[in-house]
Amino acid sequence: MHTKQISQNLFIVDLQTGGLQNLIASYVLKGDKTIIVETGPSSSIPNLLAGLEELEVRLEDVAYVALTHIHVDHGGGVGTLLKSLPNAKVVVHPKGAVHLKNPAKLWSASLEVLGEVAEMFGKPEPVPESRLVIAEENLELKVSNHVKMKVVEAPGHASHNLCYYEKNNGALFAGDSAGAYLPEFNTVFPTTPPPFHVDVALTTLDKLVRLNPEILCYSHFGFVFNAVEQLRDYQLQIRLWLSVAYEGVNKNQSLGEIKEAIFSRDPRIRSVVSQVRQNKVHQKTLLENSVQGFVDFARKNLANCPKLFKTVL
Ligand SMILES: [Zn+2]
Repeated sequence: MHTKQISQNLFIVDLQTGGLQNLIASYVLKGDKTIIVETGPSSSIPNLLAGLEELEVRLEDVAYVALTHIHVDHGGGVGTLLKSLPNAKVVVHPKGAVHLKNPAKLWSASLEVLGEVAEMFGKPEPVPESRLVIAEENLELKVSNHVKMKVVEAPGHASHNLCYYEKNNGALFAGDSAGAYLPEFNTVFPTTPPPFHVDVALTTLDKLVRLNPEILCYSHFGFVFNAVEQLRDYQLQIRLWLSVAYEGVNKNQSLGEIKEAIFSRDPRIRSVVSQVRQNKVHQKTLLENSVQGFVDFARKNLANCPKLFKTVL
């Protein structure tokens, strides 16, 4: 198993979903009790359990499983995982709770958007209502004097998106609010499938910067120690992608043309796109769905775009 210590109380587990490393992470915060942030999809729950064993976490000591959102790559495994965690509560946004109790609609939407990638993630199992904690802004999840994590509402990637901030370790669990970090290339790609709201996402990033975190923990994948700088750069990247999408929509370019224009104009990713294409999950999510999110937003909000991307022009 691939687990690693990040800071005093904080650990990462590489879930190796579908045998792929550096794709989806769970994080483990150890105090008197334990918090798990993100479960990953149902197909890799055996790997998460092996990681917990490696970290010597007693399953009965897990107090909370905190989800940033309910997309199957983040929380799809929670129903399965709970069968092994007798005392854990699941922390979820009120809009997500209904889909954890009955995941049928979530699963059919996942199959529609992700196709065979959804099959690889696996079908989610339901979560009993009695195990749910409905998250609200600033709700504190405390498992010791040294591990107190709070809920930060963070809409943008999804309307029900949450982040979590643990002050003692200076760690922000961003879910998909800060993009996907690809450690092998030391670069970030937007995680912006439709319906993506650029304005809302930029406001959320301002809010995350104000927390002044040190460690940024990405669900895809891994952690960096210059959190504020990364969050600020992600804002610039979002503005750049929006400006190129806006130009393309104005010129009636096809989706393919806009895609190529974005990839060639973004210096963060220009030289790695051809390698990223080799990964079928990244190809579908980061190279297709993320661009579509910007194009759809630009088409619907054409007049508003320039004021949102003005800082890069
Ligand atoms: Zn994701």
